[in-house]
Amino acid sequence: MNSNEIEIHKELKKYFGFSQFKGLQEQVITSILGKTNTFVIMPTGGGKSLCYQLPALIQDGTAIVVSPLIALMKNQVDAIRSLSSENGIAHVLNSSLTKTEIAQVKKDISAGLTKLLYVAPESLTKEEYVAFLQSVPISFVAIDEAHCISEWGHDFRPEYRNLRSIIKQLGKVPIIGLTATATPKVQEDILKNLDMADANTFKASFNRPNLYYEVRTKTKNIESDIIRFIKQHKGKSGIIYCLSRKKVESIAEVLQVNGISAVPYHAGLDAKTRAKHQDMFLMEDVDVVVATIAFGMGIDKPDVRFVIHHDIPKSLESYYQETGRAGRDGGEGHCLAYYSYKDVEKLEKFMSGKPVAEQEIGFALLQEVVAYAETSMSRRKFLLHYFGEEFDSETGEGADMDDNVRNPKNKIEAKDQVVK
Ligand code: ADP
Ligand code: MG
Repeated sequence: MNSNEIEIHKELKKYFGFSQFKGLQEQVITSILGKTNTFVIMPTGGGKSLCYQLPALIQDGTAIVVSPLIALMKNQVDAIRSLSSENGIAHVLNSSLTKTEIAQVKKDISAGLTKLLYVAPESLTKEEYVAFLQSVPISFVAIDEAHCISEWGHDFRPEYRNLRSIIKQLGKVPIIGLTATATPKVQEDILKNLDMADANTFKASFNRPNLYYEVRTKTKNIESDIIRFIKQHKGKSGIIYCLSRKKVESIAEVLQVNGISAVPYHAGLDAKTRAKHQDMFLMEDVDVVVATIAFGMGIDKPDVRFVIHHDIPKSLESYYQETGRAGRDGGEGHCLAYYSYKDVEKLEKFMSGKPVAEQEIGFALLQEVVAYAETSMSRRKFLLHYFGEEFDSETGEGADMDDNVRNPKNKIEAKDQVVK
């Protein structure tokens, strides 16, 4: 170790209490400290936040962190503040602040106290803020969830497209883009839109060797099939994703009637009920959450043992994100998706009301899901290939962890049961 390495290890311990870096963190941090544009692609839970938090804490000036969700920003600010005796060390700047609060934020930044300033992308477009940020030293700009910049990502936010021109107004500051979306198309888009083809790129593997992937043909018996599956995983935590709120409600009810402790979760429920159901799941007062995709962002329950897709997701990124909530602790994680072509047509119909460009992207993404569901090759290989990663389906980690590899024949038998 050279003196720099010893230094950042010491700081890691001092601020976060960790004695080791996770995955590529150390290389990423070294790149950021070298004032170079840096692009970080790591799966959810990989430890991306620390990649910009640590260099922000140990450098002069304020790091700006762009993040799409106010709730996530608040969590991070609270977490950083708990590491320090100085409250001003981290702030959020957004439209919900009062004039007095804004004045305090500006005062702390000007005094050099604030190491991390979290901003929503729409706040960063405000001229008043930009003018202020031009007047103070900025260490770097981190763009978290950078896939929001791409129409090919699962969460396109047009405001992200303005970021590059705003950052340019701040002078020559390094940019750090971070995402858990690994498709080559999205990566290209990010690099292009942020004008940082020169960035040092760090990509972690997306393989989750402890997850078992399975696709079953959706038949009219799906409900009893799900009940049987859950009863085989008695007392274990699991999530069931459905496309519609109505389906969420009806499946939750069917499970309850069958003696399974389950609660619904979707955006149509009031905030109090949603929070209650989420807590019940986290505290293990219920085993199963039946949810739309509204459920899961920022939820870190380590021992989710299964994720069931009652309906196919709209893209393989979504599928990877949603199934990725299983087995965070490295233990068993069974990912079961039900597939019928009728659902594909339903999703296509959903999209037909959208602008043509968006439709085309939507169809293309959906076709990849169809190909995944219908493939007879290693599902892990298929998924990882989609993310631009080569996987050896003979010797790779977790190579035998899917239905196609374990028993290729079952799939053909199951096909005969399709209900037309
Ligand atoms: P991501 O943004 O990539 O999804 P997070 O930044 O939220 O991941 O980190 C995921 C978890 O990993 C957090 O609980 C964090 O405290 C933990 N973590 C990060 N770095 C380390 C490390 N070096 N050692 C141990 N745990 C870490
Ligand atoms: Mg993150």
